[in-house]
Amino acid sequence: MKFEPTIGLEIHAELKTKTKMFCECLNDPLEKRPNLNLCPICLGHPGTLPLMNKEAVRLVLTLGAALGAKLADDSRFDRKNYFYPDLPKGYQISQYLHPLVSAGVLKLPSGKEVRITRVHLEEDAARNVHDNDSKATLVDFNRAGVPLMELVTEPDMKSAAEAVEFAEELQLILRYLGISDADMEKGQMRVEANVSIAPADELGNGFSKLGTKVEVKNINSFRAVGRAIDFEINRQAEAIGRGEKIKQETRGWDDAHQKTVSQRSKEEAHDYRYFPEPDLPPLKLSEVPEFAPEILKAELPELPLAKRERFREEYGVEGEKLEIFIHDKKLSEFFESVVSEAERWIDKVPKEKIISLAVNYITSDLVGLLKELALSIENLEMSPENFGELIKMSALGEISSRGAKDILRIMTERGGDPTEIAIQEGQLQTSETGSLEGIVKRVIDANPKALEDYKKGKEASLQFLIGQAMREAKNQKIGANPQILKEIFQKISK
Ligand code: ADP
Ligand code: ZN
Ligand code: MG
Repeated sequence: MKFEPTIGLEIHAELKTKTKMFCECLNDPLEKRPNLNLCPICLGHPGTLPLMNKEAVRLVLTLGAALGAKLADDSRFDRKNYFYPDLPKGYQISQYLHPLVSAGVLKLPSGKEVRITRVHLEEDAARNVHDNDSKATLVDFNRAGVPLMELVTEPDMKSAAEAVEFAEELQLILRYLGISDADMEKGQMRVEANVSIAPADELGNGFSKLGTKVEVKNINSFRAVGRAIDFEINRQAEAIGRGEKIKQETRGWDDAHQKTVSQRSKEEAHDYRYFPEPDLPPLKLSEVPEFAPEILKAELPELPLAKRERFREEYGVEGEKLEIFIHDKKLSEFFESVVSEAERWIDKVPKEKIISLAVNYITSDLVGLLKELALSIENLEMSPENFGELIKMSALGEISSRGAKDILRIMTERGGDPTEIAIQEGQLQTSETGSLEGIVKRVIDANPKALEDYKKGKEASLQFLIGQAMREAKNQKIGANPQILKEIFQKISK
């Protein structure tokens, strides 16, 4: 029998707010010292009252706007009751029946559209740290009460690859919107995958019947998302092949052994006894002017999908090179400044030439150099202006492509003007002999004695004259090759 997989994702992301969800403690997910950012509210002391973080609400609504989703007019928080050492209150403030965002769509780069069921806001739990030496479990409350969003998709994905594509695209969107750094390795973004399989002829026949789903947790990289889903698809197909029934359960991804292991079955599932959070007022979102959907939409920056289209159209970039720009905002800003710099000498080099050289030098050479030198584009000494100049020199054949690479390395390391570097490094291939002759004549006029000495056979005097001419050329921003200067001096002094 042929089976078709179905995947739905539940993705949590820590929001990038200044303070926690319901108190004024710092929201600092990178804080290394345990139990520094805490107070009676996020420690769940009796008698304390939560105070809502408006910025967190705005961030989730912004994501909703980006997903073309329905933004709630009215919303509220609910208590999700369960006991665990990392949950000091004994309940998590979450949203159950009235999420901030519902019914959206995320369009993937492949063109596939995945429906978004909902996005809601809640608070993160503390972090349990298992200490091997003492065999104790320690609790770090820095994370307790950090604003957390949860996005739930419809079961619209058909393969591990699609699920990974979805998670990666969502990460990009979260970063573009400044909602979350969404780093999976740091736990800022957590993906849970619901996986089922069903006989192909039962799906897509208008009477689709999905198979029993298994939820996979503890996935902490994009690679693991793909592997966990593929593992689950195979495991389920093999089980069905043996005549077994898939039971609804939660499994965990064991990265060390590259497999999923059963954690709990449906029967053991929690009853969270949700009820409306009595300590927080209902959210009358339609009464907050800055939360109006038109306003949130108008404030959206250019999103990855639109940027891809624009880069394809304006610059003809595709594939991996395009994705480098899409994934690195600063690098693409640098590229676009280089292109606009290049408008100034458009009469000398055609725009398409500039664009294709800039794309190639940035996505391969510069990206490689940044990695090698552990530098980031924001803190470079090299300006887009200087980089553009380098490209122009390369386009005009003033330097070889090997030379351009060497000069680029120097500029990446310490900035500087490419013409000057080319002169110092003897990389200029051609020099405008006419203007160099003018310089040489002036240097000779100013140093008649040196010329006499050279004519009498004093080599050092020629070196002196060349040095003077180099200095003069540099002042005039003329690329001068010392070898060519030498030839001109020899010719003139004959
Ligand atoms: P639960 O009530 O168990 O939480 P939901 O209906 O809320 O289940 O769905 C949770 C997630 O599981 C969603 O992302 C949804 O798309 C996905 N899902 C639901 N049914 C299936 C299925 N049969 N196969 C794969 N994913 C599913
Ligand atoms: Zn606090
Ligand atoms: Mg559910």
